[in-house]
Parts: sequence; C-alpha cells; structure tokens
Amino acid sequence: MSIRIVPADSLGDTRQASSLDIAPLLLPASGGLYRQRAARLGALAVGHPMEAFLRFAAALVTAQADVATRHTVALPARDDYFRQCAEHGLPPLGAQAWPRDPVWQHMLRDLCDQLGQSMQGPAAIVAHLLAEEPAEMLERQAQQLLNGEWAAVGADRAPFIWAALSVYFSQLASQLHIHAVAEPDSARHLCPVCGSSPVASVVRQGAESGLRYLHCSLCESDWHLVRSTCSNCESSKDLGYWTLDDKEAAVRAETCGDCHGYLKIIYLDKDREADPVADDLASLPLDARIEEEGFFRSGLNPLLFPG
Ligand SMILES: [Zn+2]
Ligand SMILES: [Zn+2]
Repeated sequence: MSIRIVPADSLGDTRQASSLDIAPLLLPASGGLYRQRAARLGALAVGHPMEAFLRFAAALVTAQADVATRHTVALPARDDYFRQCAEHGLPPLGAQAWPRDPVWQHMLRDLCDQLGQSMQGPAAIVAHLLAEEPAEMLERQAQQLLNGEWAAVGADRAPFIWAALSVYFSQLASQLHIHAVAEPDSARHLCPVCGSSPVASVVRQGAESGLRYLHCSLCESDWHLVRSTCSNCESSKDLGYWTLDDKEAAVRAETCGDCHGYLKIIYLDKDREADPVADDLASLPLDARIEEEGFFRSGLNPLLFPG
C-alpha cells in the first residue's frame, strides 16, 4: 500500500479510493510538538544510564522549540509543482530535491547560538563551529544528510543540522493543502510528504485509537500502516515483538524475519506521554540486544546518527 498525495483542490473522483474511515496521513500541527518532546526527554533522563546524553537531546529539542517561535517560513506557492508530484506519485516536499529557503540556515545559526551558550564541552564546540560555518558549506552538509551520506557530515554535527532542517520542513508540511489517498500498491516505508525514513511507529489513542502510524524523522508527519506488517518490506509472515524484560513495556522492537529489519513500535495505551523520537532514544539498550540477533535498524533517529 502506498499513500498518494493530491492537491486538495484537484480531488475529482479520487476521494472514492480512501473509503475506509482511516486518515492515511496526519500532517504536523504547528507548535507544541518540540516542547512536549523536550519535556519527555527530560523526564526519561532522570536516573537513566544515558542521562547526560538524554539531557543533551532535551536541550537540542528545546532549542528547536525556541527557534520555531523566532523564525517561520511560508510554504511557497508552487501549485504546478505539487500537481506534477501528485501525477508522478512523488512526495510534495521531497527533501533531496526541494529548493531550500536560506531561512533554514538562520534557524541553524540561531539554534547553535543558543546551544553554544547553554552547553559545555564538545557539544558547545560543535555548536560554535557550525554557527561560523560558511553558507555554502552548510548547504553541502545539509544535502549530504538528506541524501543519506551521513558519514560525510559526521555524527557530532548531524543532529544540529538535521534539527534545523526538521524545524524548516515541519513548518512547510504543516501548511500543505493536500488530500492523501491510500492506494493498494508499492511501499509505505518512506514518508509520503518528504520521502524520509521513519523514526518509529506509534499505536495511537484518541481519534485514531488502536491505529498504527509511522512518524517521520524529518518533517514530523505521521502516515498510516496496518499493524502486524513490517514497516520496511510490508511482509506479515515472520514478525517478532521484543522487549528487554517488561511484557507491559510501552516500547517494543518489531522485527521482520523476511528483510531482517526492525523498528520500534510505541503503544500510547501503555504510556500516553511517550514520544517516538524520545522513547526510541531512551530504549537504545533494546537496539543493542536486537542487533545481536542479526536485525538491522530500518529507521533513523534524528538525535543519533550512525557513526
Ligand atoms: Zn516527512
Ligand atoms: Zn520486513
């Protein structure tokens, strides 16, 4: 199953295709998300074996929340482009090809200024270096990250640059005027809005109670995927659900015996405060155990790049 996106003013008869009463796509709401995530990271950090790292992550996400209030970007009027994307089944904000507004660099420099003042040690040094980096260098590193060339940028810089890109793309995504249609073809392993990998999946509460959505590592959108399906290859044949020792844990790893990928799945009925980015990060010991079993992580956590 894929999710096709069409501009909301050109629906025609495609509305028939989404006859099931399930929203295929939930765009990010403007505001609030980063504050909630920062609070969750702060709560998870207390007494955690990775407390220092979780506190670094909380500071970085707090800076994202602050930067989002100081800088805003308006979605450009590109109706023809969005229509072409819909015709060819491409994500409207495909991050690798999207022409970035320089405002994302203002977001990054502001974020780095704030963190350079509030942090100490190696993270503060990286923040100072990035704040002084020439614009062309920052553009190149952003492109490398979006292309998946993470090693070219380095795991120390990547979370800062990605954090600014995420604020930028989530603001654009929150303004899209589109309609998403579930279609019975191809895959759902990448975000239908920006084409990035998911962080984790979340079994939701409230209006979407019991439904499972994948959460984007970049634009913060959520897209539907039926439960008991591998988020990487969509096989349902050989799935496993793992926790370290707690059968009632809110965070589990969903492993697939077909593609050998895994992604965390988070159950909000077990913990309504859980957040895909924060809880994925705080459950890293589970990753170590799962990877010992020969599975590879099929998603990306924006606060922890490989290497
Ligand atoms: Zn996305
Ligand atoms: Zn699979």
